[in-house]
Amino acid sequence: MGSVCSSCRKTIVWAVTTKTGRAIPLDPTPGPEGNVTIVGRSPRDCPLVLVLSPEELALAREHGVPRLYVSHFATCPDAAKWRRKPPVRGVRSERSSA
Ligand SMILES: [Zn+2]
Repeated sequence: MGSVCSSCRKTIVWAVTTKTGRAIPLDPTPGPEGNVTIVGRSPRDCPLVLVLSPEELALAREHGVPRLYVSHFATCPDAAKWRRKPPVRGVRSERSSA
């Protein structure tokens, strides 16, 4: 799964969302700001993921879902080029992960 972002050249993992069947790039390591959870594997051997809505994310955190991945769309320094949304960098991670 050695993919790199065509924009910033960071390592990414392509995953497929169960909701829309779309391929999305993920950062390879989970992080406190993640909102993507891996639920299985697709026949093409990429992770099947569920992108959580804010409500689902709140629930997942309540239930201590262990690994939430971050969409590379959210972390790519060049994302502004491909998605016109200002980066929301809220400092509201209640738990500090080590
Ligand atoms: Zn990138």
